[in-house]
Amino acid sequence: RIVLGIESSCDETGAGLVRDGRLLGHGLASSMDEHARFGGVVPEIAARAHVHALRPVIQRALDTAGLRMSDIGAVAVTTGPGLSGALQVGVAGAKAVAYALGVPLHGVHHLAGHVAADTLEHGPLPDPCMVLIVSGGHTSLLLVRDLARDPITHLGDTLDDAAGECFDKVARVFGLPYPGGPAIQRAAHTGNPRAVAFPRPLPGSYDFSFSGLKTAAARWAEGHTGRDLPVADGAASLQEAVADVLTRKAVAACVEHGVGTLIVVGGVAANSRVRALAEERCRAAGIALRVPPPGLCTDNGAMIAAVGDLLVRAGAAPAPLDLSIDPSAPLEYAALHPAASL
Ligand code: ATP
Ligand code: MG
Ligand code: FE
Repeated sequence: RIVLGIESSCDETGAGLVRDGRLLGHGLASSMDEHARFGGVVPEIAARAHVHALRPVIQRALDTAGLRMSDIGAVAVTTGPGLSGALQVGVAGAKAVAYALGVPLHGVHHLAGHVAADTLEHGPLPDPCMVLIVSGGHTSLLLVRDLARDPITHLGDTLDDAAGECFDKVARVFGLPYPGGPAIQRAAHTGNPRAVAFPRPLPGSYDFSFSGLKTAAARWAEGHTGRDLPVADGAASLQEAVADVLTRKAVAACVEHGVGTLIVVGGVAANSRVRALAEERCRAAGIALRVPPPGLCTDNGAMIAAVGDLLVRAGAAPAPLDLSIDPSAPLEYAALHPAASL
């Protein structure tokens, strides 16, 4: 079966087509530019943008795959977590396609999508594997077994801001553009990562905390007058602190649980320092590191199709057509209705 995946939990409208673990085509639109002047995603703007983008994005996925609507054999859609208005648009679209074609519908957890993204680049997930999801909305450390069948063990999470959110907020304080992650990375290029001793919060725990880091960066910036702010040094030091904390905990979790593979996904996995430090520490600990390419790291429809494809091949029962969104869905199973599927 060819699975259409639809993603609309935040500001990206994504559609992807996957069959037997292989990506056939995808389409993506973003309303990021429309949110830029507000310094963050505006839910109502995001939802409206999904309404306009969804149909063209599905068509682009079909066009790049050289397929027609009638070739679709199942539909998978993000049901949560995310912005409710934004999720509603994707779920309504997915139901329409599934109903019109008479094919099964599967509700997918957004974070399971991030986990599965890497399978499109590097093949099936080893069982078990450790997954670090670092994005604008999440910082989660997960112990994953069979994604389609087994419950996921949530080892740690952020207690306040997500890692990407920290980059975004500090970038604002430093006078850098939104989104802050790429801007901090660019600024950090010429900076000294040891210039500022930013804190490394919650040592010895698998949970994360980035609000203290944000406050420390703001206090450091206040100590300088506008023009004299050494942004490059601040950016490099902040990036080093975030990369250090993320990779130290992820590798420690692998060692403690005897897991031989670490997968790093989410928008922040695109960060070059996070990647380099993860490589260094994984090599030292004898752990295989997998990081999907940037296009699969950020929100997209292909990753949702990848989960749908795993569910279809595992024989999971489809979701009912009255499938509802769950904006704060807890991550236990990749599918929304695990009880029905097993
Ligand atoms: P979600 O949490 O639902 O995944 P999201 O849309 O915020 O939501 P992504 O699209 O995966 O998540 O990632 C966006 C985040 O990644 C932003 O916070 C952005 O600053 C950060 N980011 C992107 N590129 C980089 C980079 N090179 N370095 C650091 N952070 C980055
Ligand atoms: Mg996004
Ligand atoms: Fe995401």
